[in-house]
Amino acid sequence: MHENKPTQPGAECRDSPADFFPMEGENNVAFNRRAEKELIPICARCAITATCLEGALSRNEQFGVWGGTTPRQRSAMRIPRARK
Ligand code: SF4
Repeated sequence: MHENKPTQPGAECRDSPADFFPMEGENNVAFNRRAEKELIPICARCAITATCLEGALSRNEQFGVWGGTTPRQRSAMRIPRARK
């Protein structure tokens, strides 16, 4: 799941990418609470936040915190496809 996490210098999660995903037994409510309290503040001081978010949106990452966003927040960012 975390194989796409950035590894370059400046990526704040490079040493602990798995922490940015739900832990075993951690439900969505608990993960979102941890994301808001611990993970998103880390992303806020990361050097590559915008690039990270762009990549996650382009790959349609469904899980974890990327670029300072939760899965729900990324879902809201996606532009609905026009109906034919
Ligand atoms: S923005 Fe967050 S998830 Fe992305 S590389 Fe930085 S710390 Fe990791």
